[in-house]
Amino acid sequence: MQEERLATHLRDRPAQLREAQEKGVKIIGYFPGNYVPEELIIASGAIPICLIDGGDTLPLEVSLSAIPHIFCPFARTQIGERLLRRNPYYNMIDMLIAPITCQHLKKAAEIWEYYGDIEIFKLGIPHQYSNDFELGYYRDRLRALRERLKAFTGNKITDKSICSAIKLYNRMRELLRKISLLRCDASVPLDALDFVKLNHASFYADPALMVDILESVYDELREKPSVAETDAPRLILIGPNIGYGDYKMLELVKEAGGEIVIEEVCEGMRYYWSTIDTTGDPLESLARGYLRDRVPPAFMRYSAKPRLDFALKLITDFTVSGVIWYELLGCETYDAESYFFTQKVGERNIPMLILESDYGMAGVGQMKTRIEAFIEMVKGGLE
Ligand code: SF4
Repeated sequence: MQEERLATHLRDRPAQLREAQEKGVKIIGYFPGNYVPEELIIASGAIPICLIDGGDTLPLEVSLSAIPHIFCPFARTQIGERLLRRNPYYNMIDMLIAPITCQHLKKAAEIWEYYGDIEIFKLGIPHQYSNDFELGYYRDRLRALRERLKAFTGNKITDKSICSAIKLYNRMRELLRKISLLRCDASVPLDALDFVKLNHASFYADPALMVDILESVYDELREKPSVAETDAPRLILIGPNIGYGDYKMLELVKEAGGEIVIEEVCEGMRYYWSTIDTTGDPLESLARGYLRDRVPPAFMRYSAKPRLDFALKLITDFTVSGVIWYELLGCETYDAESYFFTQKVGERNIPMLILESDYGMAGVGQMKTRIEAFIEMVKGGLE
């Protein structure tokens, strides 16, 4: 029932956004990676839309008129969709917030700037996260964003309105976490593809409605029987990015008899493991919550060890017996770390399969064969 409700909402969402836009409400797009606090956008009276499409090859071909093929397919998709003008969300953006994270997404934002006609706000992100001066820098950038949003929308942004937006998104994060944790036990009431789709929907849907839907989904799932085969190896997915529509690998794993029960993905999925403090200065709380109180992605310095520790904890907590490492062609930071992770999880007798995708169909047959062989191997180890 909730599935239908969400599908209907997402179907109608572009039209609703257009209507709001005609009444003067600004639609603010941003690139993913969990460094753009939607709370600030909501508090300004605007509507946030995270641009996370991926998996289709047409935007990749189109992007080649603006950028060489060495850039990763996700970054190129963000360019291709903008140039194609077919996607309602990419078309209706009044302003783009581009966090300065990896080189590829940074370049995608620059291409939007060269070829586009809308304002690009570049949100500086420190590439270290643990020192006070980095926290201070990020907090100052958030302050600059707040000022820009205020001027752009013509609305006041009060501490109170930021706090109430934080509470709304905290509820969304809490619910996603609770739903995700339902897969911790042997009974898995939803598979990875359904969870990823739910997580993706949270970037496009109205946040208050999304919270309401997630409440009901959680209640429904608690009563639901397991969707996993009894002999399915429990797997963790680790990687930089899962775009909205990039679902082939998830389908192949399921078809091959594996069950991904937890994901550690930097972009394209909402980070839901921690919430944001609602007491004290809201900008300070957002800076801490988005920069420091989360697992750092691979573009950050000194991030491999904390992420490995986090992944190992997930492997234990979710009783995982294999790692699916899914990276995109050209993603050098994650590719470099795949060697380190293979070795470290191997020391715990956890095998890891490294898959690389360029979104094309040409590699799907080989990916299928490798996934099937890996799952058989993990199953063999469990017997
Ligand atoms: S997949 Fe890798 S290269 Fe592409 S945007 Fe993400 S971190 Fe950057």
